[in-house]
Amino acid sequence: MSVRVRYAPSPTGLQHIGSVRTALFNYLFARSQQGKFILRLEDTDRTRFSEAYVENLYATFKWLGFYWAEGPDIGGPSAPYIQSERLSLYQRYAQELVANGHAYYCFCADKRAQQNDQASEEGEDSGGFGYPRTCRSLDPVEAQRRADSGEPCVIRLKIPLDGTTVFDDLLLGTIEWKNVDINPDPVLLKSDGFPTYHLANVIDDHFMEITHILRAQEWISSTPLHILMYKAFGWDIPKLCHLPMVLGSDGHKLSKRHGATAVNEFRKKGYLPEALVNYVALLGASYKDGQDIYSLEELAENFSIKHLNKAPAVFDYVKLEWFNGQYIRMKTDDELAALLMPFMVEAELLADNDDGRIFMKKAVPLIKERLKYLSDAPLMLAFVFKDIPALANEELIPKKQDAAGTAKLLLTAKELLLAHGVAEHDVIEHAFREKAEALGCKLGDMLMPLRMAVTGTKISPPLFESIALIGIEKACVRIDAAVRQLQQ
Ligand code: GLU
Repeated sequence: MSVRVRYAPSPTGLQHIGSVRTALFNYLFARSQQGKFILRLEDTDRTRFSEAYVENLYATFKWLGFYWAEGPDIGGPSAPYIQSERLSLYQRYAQELVANGHAYYCFCADKRAQQNDQASEEGEDSGGFGYPRTCRSLDPVEAQRRADSGEPCVIRLKIPLDGTTVFDDLLLGTIEWKNVDINPDPVLLKSDGFPTYHLANVIDDHFMEITHILRAQEWISSTPLHILMYKAFGWDIPKLCHLPMVLGSDGHKLSKRHGATAVNEFRKKGYLPEALVNYVALLGASYKDGQDIYSLEELAENFSIKHLNKAPAVFDYVKLEWFNGQYIRMKTDDELAALLMPFMVEAELLADNDDGRIFMKKAVPLIKERLKYLSDAPLMLAFVFKDIPALANEELIPKKQDAAGTAKLLLTAKELLLAHGVAEHDVIEHAFREKAEALGCKLGDMLMPLRMAVTGTKISPPLFESIALIGIEKACVRIDAAVRQLQQ
């Protein structure tokens, strides 16, 4: 049977590092097996649903370069792939479980029962305070009559009162769960006719012929009750693999406290999708020995569940930054110019027109080696387009120098620029070196104030190229302004 896996997000939040890793592992597994990767929207939680999250899902996946064989937007043999459009299927099968004695109608409306149901729906433990199974002992015929008469009710799964539920996890091995430790009789169908996650998830995985379920470990407490449902329906159980968590550096689940987690934020900051995919793919998985950089193709070729780690993965922002730098430098200058343009436009430094493109062609070779993120480019190049912000004297004066000495050095630098120009790199650099020697000062003591005076920042492109970008005249105006300030 050919492999079919799914990524089944609930559109109740933005796509983040953890969810994208689950999607990526499913995607890589499908591709490594010549199988299919399917997208399904689990939108049964209508209170937290937002269309914006669906848009975010598509935009994120498109940006990352994932594609799916079947899904809500493209259809497929198991359409629709949106749970809110499959309600009658869930209702029919919930009733089948009632009919064969594996589930029952519940007419309770007490608060504690509802709180427990909410916790169970969100994949959480009820903490032992479960539903007291009040309606489990109702006469089935009488219960059916009340339900048919329109009395508000839910359908609950009958969890066996003793015994254990066992399943094999491809990564974690055999897992045994005492049935008394399973949430007592979780709701499958709510009173508004909507299924809970458990019911819809199992029914869809069955009818969509999912062969392997790779999902985050936080769902593992739901799995025993899903197993009981597969058995109650008499269906084959897909192979299961619960993926270890992604943690922050302090050992807690990765969250906003640690830094950016939403993929959107990384995108805005100027991470490349290749870098993010490469790094996220390594979170808890290995591919080949001694290799860090992988394309999506290579990851897919080398992915194996056998090479997943059981231990949680720690998300390292510095490592991700390193990957980003690597991928930035792998781009051709033209590719990078095109990628940087939206950031320059957003910062209102350039327009995406011929002049803008000509400028970027000149600027990219100067900044390519220094960029950590694409959003560094406007910061590094703003001095070309905007007046530099007012500087404090301390920012201009090198260590062991004073204001008067620095002003003098700046005026000397100005003379050299006017005398030699900046077109010939070697010439101007040589002139600065000779002068510094003659004055008995460090070369850096001449260059540092000059860079600050002309660009207002320490992170500009190389100094003489920076001056070439704005022209000597403008550079001289800025030098004079700095000198005036130092002489005040
Ligand atoms: N809708 C669930 C989620 O949001 C799917 C969990 C599963 O893969 O079974 O993650």
